[in-house]
Amino acid sequence: MDYVEHIADLVGNTPLVRLNSLAKGATPVLAKVEYMNPGGSVKDRIALRMVEAAEASGELRPGGTIVEPTSGNTGVGLAMVAQRKGYRCVFVCPDKVSEDKRNVLAAYGAEVVVCPTAVPPEHPDSYYSVSDRLVTEIDGAWKPNQYANPANPESHYHSTGPEIWRQTEGRVTHFVAGIGTGGTISGTGRYLKEVSDGRVQIIGADPEGSVYSGGVGRPYLVEGVGEDFWPDTYDRDICDQIVAVSDADSFHVTRDLAREEALLVGGSCGMAVAAALKIAETTGPDDVIVVLLPDGGRGYLTKVFNDSWMASYGFLSPDHAGGSVGDVL
Ligand code: PMP
Repeated sequence: MDYVEHIADLVGNTPLVRLNSLAKGATPVLAKVEYMNPGGSVKDRIALRMVEAAEASGELRPGGTIVEPTSGNTGVGLAMVAQRKGYRCVFVCPDKVSEDKRNVLAAYGAEVVVCPTAVPPEHPDSYYSVSDRLVTEIDGAWKPNQYANPANPESHYHSTGPEIWRQTEGRVTHFVAGIGTGGTISGTGRYLKEVSDGRVQIIGADPEGSVYSGGVGRPYLVEGVGEDFWPDTYDRDICDQIVAVSDADSFHVTRDLAREEALLVGGSCGMAVAAALKIAETTGPDDVIVVLLPDGGRGYLTKVFNDSWMASYGFLSPDHAGGSVGDVL
């Protein structure tokens, strides 16, 4: 019989899919489709390795509780791994996080604590303060802290990087990814640099206004990428180039990926592909660009894929429209 013991055993080994419609130049642009992970995002990889590292170091013991301020993909990955291994999960999120996202975490059995958004980080009710307090109050609690945990980039050094090298038979010349914690680009980038003797170019994609592309953390709408501080998990020397992408371009390419490539993915995927297409203007037939797509698009149906939401920010454009929904003709 062909089966696995648990859904968490299927993390990693995601496919590469060539972008045929959006990338028509000489260079193949291959998308690493991370929504094929069982929890639906690239964060399954770090969840697994952070938990296993904490078990090995004794920080997380049988019957322990995982406490993390997260509302999204990392929470799902942690909840899935916790379920397999019998840990309790408590996630702390600000009240601006949609009810749908909180309900997904609860569906996996996690306890979600909602905190007010409209208080400063040092306020006792802020979600940073509450998660710190819960870690000290709950017996056997452990906080993964994805922004500082070395197991985050290590998971990519040991899985994402080797997969890309193997899947391209060593022909990859450019790797493009968005930067949030920086774990993906730092770990994957380090592996690809080492294995290619520095030949593979590492290109960070960043929302305009974020610190990685020289901004001060000005607000942008694309989710999961860009920061207003420099996390420990980001290797500042890893990128050969950083491409800043506007929200409008990120969302237009995200819509194009669904309509023209049948890839229903999140806004940070459109951002990364926008950067990859810019790189593809400068490369030739012997180059191979791999661009990582972190998650799927179903979590963004009321935003990127909603015409009213797009119009409210002035992003709606007939060139990037989807199909239509209407009454019986
Ligand atoms: N896109 C999305 C949707 C994410 O959730 C994240 C993680 N914050 C990223 C991109 C960036 O990945 P990393 O944290 O590894 O830099």
